Amino acid sequence: MKLIYTNENYFLVHNIKNIVENAGVSTTLRNEYTSSGAGELAPNETWLELWVLNENEYGKAIVAITSAFNTHAKAWVCKKCLEKNDAAFEFCWQCQTNP
Ligand SMILES: [Zn+2]
Repeated sequence: MKLIYTNENYFLVHNIKNIVENAGVSTTLRNEYTSSGAGELAPNETWLELWVLNENEYGKAIVAITSAFNTHAKAWVCKKCLEKNDAAFEFCWQCQTNP
């Protein structure tokens, strides 16, 4: 098992879980039912945690999350050649500069 994501926002963690599971990666949640004891624990110990069951699928899960967030990102302009790039491109398609 490998921790892939944690946040104090319960809905954000569930959103990430859906993205990862849609990519075919099995996950499990931790701290889902600990909020009632929050007063006795440090705040970040009660954050909902998303774990990947099979560590071999961790990379696949990261790619799924990254591409899901890129979909909502905006197009960008390359600093080097001033070419406009779609949000899906991590590097400039023309000169391969990393923004
Ligand atoms: Zn460029």
